[in-house]
Amino acid sequence: MPGFKFPCTQCGLCCTNAGGERQLSFLKDEGLLNKEGKCVHLEEDLIEGRLLRRCGVYKDRPLLCRTDVAEKLTRPKAMARLIFWRLTALGCNILQEQNGFDESYRVKIPASSLTEEESSAPTQSDE
Ligand code: SF4
Ligand code: SF4
Repeated sequence: MPGFKFPCTQCGLCCTNAGGERQLSFLKDEGLLNKEGKCVHLEEDLIEGRLLRRCGVYKDRPLLCRTDVAEKLTRPKAMARLIFWRLTALGCNILQEQNGFDESYRVKIPASSLTEEESSAPTQSDE
């Protein structure tokens, strides 16, 4: 997905059990889940009162943690990429609301993140 980078706000919730069993099944399978229900590779910092969490093995993270792989595996061919990423962001934002993260963590995907073609119609490259 040339040019597009998912604007993760580092709440880290997708690397914990906040989203329930289904989300974490692969972490369990890989033996990556600690007793607190977090991935063993999740690193946490408190910077000026703001919790920021990031992957400690980002460059070598499992394939299922990669947004490009997630898109390939789960985006329906008929769905425009802009819609797919906005739905993904909605998932982040719902998790954040459910877990008490304030508005500043919300993920927003402006239409300008993707090309005009990607924003309005499915791409042909994955057909
Ligand atoms: S839930 Fe979304 S915003 Fe939070 S760390 Fe995961 S990808 Fe980033
Ligand atoms: S490997 Fe990294 S990206 Fe994947 S769940 Fe663990 S901390 Fe998150």
